[in-house]
This record gives sequence, structure tokens and C-alpha cells, in this order.
Amino acid sequence: MSAFPRPGTIAAEARAILDRLGVPAAALSGDLPVRSPLTGEIIASIAQTDAAGATAAIGTAQEAFLAWRAIPGPRRGELVRLMGEELRAAKADLGRLVTLEAGKITSEGLGEVQEMIDICDYAVGLSRQLQGLTIATERPDHRMMETWHPIGVVGVISAFNFPVAVWSWNSALAFVCGDSVVWKPSEKTPLTALATQAIFEKAAARFGGVPAGLSTLLIGGKEVGEALVDDKRVPVVSATGSTAMGRAVGPRLAARFARAILELGGNNAAIVCPTADLDLAVRGIAFAAMGTAGQRCTTLRRLIVHESNYDALVSRLKPAYGSVKVGDPAAAGTLIGPLIDKAAFDGMQKALEAARAQGGSVTGGARVEAEGLAEAYYVRPALVEMPGQSEIVQHETFAPILYVMRYSDFDTALALHNGVPQGLSSSIFTNDLREAERFLSAAGSDCGIANVNIGPSGAEIGGAFGGEKETGGGREAGSDSWKAYMRRATNTINYGSTLPLAQGVTFDV
Ligand code: NAD
Repeated sequence: MSAFPRPGTIAAEARAILDRLGVPAAALSGDLPVRSPLTGEIIASIAQTDAAGATAAIGTAQEAFLAWRAIPGPRRGELVRLMGEELRAAKADLGRLVTLEAGKITSEGLGEVQEMIDICDYAVGLSRQLQGLTIATERPDHRMMETWHPIGVVGVISAFNFPVAVWSWNSALAFVCGDSVVWKPSEKTPLTALATQAIFEKAAARFGGVPAGLSTLLIGGKEVGEALVDDKRVPVVSATGSTAMGRAVGPRLAARFARAILELGGNNAAIVCPTADLDLAVRGIAFAAMGTAGQRCTTLRRLIVHESNYDALVSRLKPAYGSVKVGDPAAAGTLIGPLIDKAAFDGMQKALEAARAQGGSVTGGARVEAEGLAEAYYVRPALVEMPGQSEIVQHETFAPILYVMRYSDFDTALALHNGVPQGLSSSIFTNDLREAERFLSAAGSDCGIANVNIGPSGAEIGGAFGGEKETGGGREAGSDSWKAYMRRATNTINYGSTLPLAQGVTFDV
């Protein structure tokens, strides 16, 4: 028997959290309705940013940038260190708000805040390591080097499913890089954004002297996002969301030569080879495919299984799919909370119909009705055995559907793996070194993330995050992703008294 949240309690709880975190009351009255997917109820109605408000906010952010870029990097890191401290103090509240607004189970709500803390720690170290190169020059008495400078206002557009972590992957780096940030969160999850902004304000107050507008919010839908995308004062826009969003945003940014960091949809696969450790694979697949109710960009959506393991694996996955607990994301033992809304549920059912029409055999996928919660959409995860990689398998449906296909030779498995338009995350389960290394090689997985013996979801912040093809090509978080938030200047200095020209060119006047 599944437990479901009680209607009528969430609005008050969310309001209490927002008050505790210091969100101003004025932000919490307006005409943008916010629903909790837990019960489907409207839990707040908040103020939206209009066109004039967006223009003004970007102007203030531009002013803030001009002041902030003059602060030394390690000092900028101190603000982010304080942000990490404030996030630690607010972890339980913000994590719970993620659960209330985005429907994540408790450990994932808290995990999302932990990810924010982790990236703050990372960025603090980075604030002392914004390093350029010294480069050999062909000219005598010359020195050549590169310098990394702050770039300006960074626009962040984020999706509902990581309502706060995506902001932190971008902004923790942007702040230490000397930039200001204007954030347009998903219109489905603005409360967690307001809470995050309030937490930032606490860190800024402790820091002292943070220029007004260093971090600002634009609340609203696509139109507000477009205002950010089209504003010439914003040289970098990091946009996370569907491929459809990226298709709209990418050309607009290109038209004004702005830098785009596009983090779009995935259609992530795992290959299960003959030598795979099936105990480990079952656990890895279950989390990656069913976790977060299939609403992660890195969710496992395609399973490509060697014929020798197919029956054994599927016969172990089916009971797991049948028994996994769906319901109140805060109840002990629940692994699958609600879908975000009715559109997500309808999209899932449409995809399952298409899969059946394309020869698929569906296990699970039905709605779990919860008494008194007509507007909440809980579903059983679906495992769909497919005869091949048909049209529907090539699309990302943002719901817990796992398509399972069989293969007989490794080349075919790799071809199936790469034979979709998206290129975000991938994995292989094998104990065969050759297969593992081929998967990671230039001729292997074409994704931005490729794993061995773990599933494709649940990345750590230390690596660069993002993917290829229709996933958009952007990279965020660790490694050298920080470079996208700065501009690089190559400097050549002549400390001699002659003027030798490069490439031996002579030009005597
Ligand atoms: P969405 O595309 O509906 O919305 C994402 C954001 O883009 C929202 O803030 C929305 O208001 C804004 N937006 C939409 N159209 C816009 C436009 N034309 N101009 C400016 N802004 C616009 O996505 P969603 O349903 O919130 O999130 C789910 C999608 O996000 C999935 O496809 C998922 O794979 C993807 N996602 C990708 C990553 C990644 O890092 N690659 C991470 C999380 C989610």
C-alpha cells in the first residue's frame, strides 16, 4: 500500500520554509501560480518579472559586474565560501522545498542541495586557480601569455528537474570568475529559486560590500527567458532544458554572437555485456532508470543487452519494477515520487502507446491513483521490451520508461548506442577490458559522459557536465568548465628595443 501526501498542508509548510529562509513577503504575492506535484495543489501565487523589470535587472547586473570584476579572485571566492556555509545551514529546509516543489524523494532533495555545497567548495579552490599559460614566443626579448578576465553578466535559464543545483553549477563558477548572474528559473519551480536567492543574500550580507544586483532573479516563463537571451548586455547564456528550448535559444544567441552553454535533453543508454556483473548492473540500472521518476537529463532510457544475459537480466528487472515503492516522496522507503504535472503524464502515456504500436511489450507504466489527489500524477515505472531502436526509442520522454533491446555482437551494440540524436550520458556493464576500453575510446560512446560499471545518472561536480549532438555541447561544473565564464586575452610583451615581426615579416618605415 502506497502512502500519499495529505492535501491542504503543503502551502503552509512551503510558506513557513520560505519565511525561515528570509524570502521577502512581497515576492510571494502575484499572479504566477505554483503547483506542488505532490498533491497537484496550487501552493503559492507569486510576483512575475515584466519586460521593464527584466531590462532594469540586467542593467543592475551589468553595474554589479563592473564593480565585482575589480575584486581579486580569491576574495570573490570568500563570498562563495560563505554561500556554501549558508547552504549547509539551510540544507534541510531547501532540500524539503525541492521535494515540495519538484517532487524529489527526500534523499534526492537533500542531495541536490549537497551538490550546491560541493560546487561552492570547488569554486572556492578555483578562485585561486584561474590560471593562464605562458607561451613560447618566436621573437627575441618578447614574452607571450594568456590572461583570463571576467566576461560580464551571465544569464542562467534552468529546468524544473534540478531547480537549484543548475544555478549553483553556473553561478558559483561565475562569481569567482568575476561575473554577475541573472537567473531565470523554471516557471514550474520558482519557490526554490526565491529561497536560493534569499540564501545568497545572507552570504552577501556577511561578506559586506557585494554590489547590488550581483545575483538577481527573473521570475516567469519563456518570454522572460527570451528577454535575457536577446539582451546585448549578457555575453554568456547558460540554458538548461529541452532540446526544443535549445533550438529556440541557440540561434537567437548566435544571431548576436553571444556565447551559449546549452545543456539539453538526453537519451542515455547502457550496454550490458556477456561478462557483466548482473547484481551490480541491476542496482545501477534500477537507480538510473527509475530514480527521480525518470526526470533526470541523465536518466537511463535505453538498455542494450547481450542475448546471453537478456532473459536473466529482464527477469530480475521486472520484479524490481513491480515492487518499487511509488508515493509520497518524503515517506520512508519511497523511491519514486510524482511526475511534475499532467503534461508529463500525458507524454508518458503517449510514448507507451507509440511503443506498443512499434512492437513493444510494456510492463508497468500505469497511473497510481491517490485518493483526493486528482491533479497529482504518480505512475508505476515502465519497462518496455522493444524489437529494435524504433522511432519512439530515439526520443527523450521525460518520464520513467526504460526501453530494452537485445544485441548479439558488440559493434551492433555500439551502433545502437550512438544511433540517437542526443549525446549526454552513457554506460557499459562489462568485466571485459577490451569492451570497456573500446566504449571509452574515440570509436566508442559519442556522449559527453561515458561510464563503466555504473549507470549513466548521478554525476559528481568535479567533472565537466554536458553532452554532444542535440544535447547542445555545453559543459558546466568541474574540470575547465570555468573558462566559459571568462574571456581569454593573449598578451605579447616586448621588453627589448627592437621590433622583430612575427613570421619574419619585414616592414621598415
Ligand atoms: P523546458 O525546455 O520546458 O524549460 C527549461 C527552461 O527554459 C525554463 O526555464 C523555460 O521557461 C525556459 N524556456 C523555454 N523556452 C524558452 C525560450 N524560447 N527562450 C528562453 N527560455 C525558454 O524544460 P523542462 O521541462 O523544465 O526540463 C526538462 C528538460 O530539461 C529535459 O529535456 C531534460 O533532459 C533537460 N535537462 C537537461 C539538463 C542538462 O544538463 N543537459 C539538465 C536538466 C534538464
